[in-house]
Amino acid sequence: MEQQVKVWGVRGSMPQPGPAYLQYGGHTACISLEREGELAVLDAGSGLSCLAKELEGKALRRLDLFLSHPHFDHMMGLFTFPLLHDPGMELHLYGGTGLQKDLETLIDPPYWPVGMRDCEARLFYHELRPGEQFRMGSFHGTVAAGNHPGGSLVCRLEADGKSLVYTLDCETDEAMFARLTEFSRGADLIVWDASYTRADKRPGWGHSTWEEGIALRRAAGAGRVLMSHYSPDYTDPFLQEQELEAQRADRTCIFAREGMVLDL
Ligand SMILES: [Zn+2]
Ligand SMILES: [Zn+2]
Repeated sequence: MEQQVKVWGVRGSMPQPGPAYLQYGGHTACISLEREGELAVLDAGSGLSCLAKELEGKALRRLDLFLSHPHFDHMMGLFTFPLLHDPGMELHLYGGTGLQKDLETLIDPPYWPVGMRDCEARLFYHELRPGEQFRMGSFHGTVAAGNHPGGSLVCRLEADGKSLVYTLDCETDEAMFARLTEFSRGADLIVWDASYTRADKRPGWGHSTWEEGIALRRAAGAGRVLMSHYSPDYTDPFLQEQELEAQRADRTCIFAREGMVLDL
């Protein structure tokens, strides 16, 4: 059965509009995974607004959304997500312990005019603990703890013998690399936190580099690695250079661009 990954947002920290960011894109983290009319979304950064536009007029009745952690760049797309206000919509939200409380605090007056509790869609919260297995629609999921200030979850989704590992906002050190290698073993695609290059990495900030993504793909025997969550400082010419260098090191490596579609 076909599964398609679509990229809606590629930045970390802050959206970055402007002419120097048109090729890779300026929206924050959001990708979707589609299978047989079923839609799983990974993080609700500002890229979610582009996905929402594509869904306009479609008879979607259920959407499953995984939120890696409550940092603003992964949640900001929810503020204006029209499906929250569609009474015919069933929205399943997956995240760490405290997800419901975090969302109801963040999306609420005085920070926003309409609160999460006032949404007309039917919301189902699934709070997950590291190591837990879960169902996300027809996908079989597993979560593990990321290494990130305040904590994050990385997840692995599987269906029809295909697997995707999602590891945004996770800093690689020796112990994390070993855990991620096991977690990503044999995956078809790893979506990777390529916030920085090796030269720019800031230990303790909770992020990784594209070089580490390539090393992980090899160690885990995974199929491909999709770089994302770029620093908002990285312009198109800079990312192009990095992409060329990365592809010389590993031909399977892909730098995410908004609007990109990949078959899993
Ligand atoms: Zn982030
Ligand atoms: Zn974060």
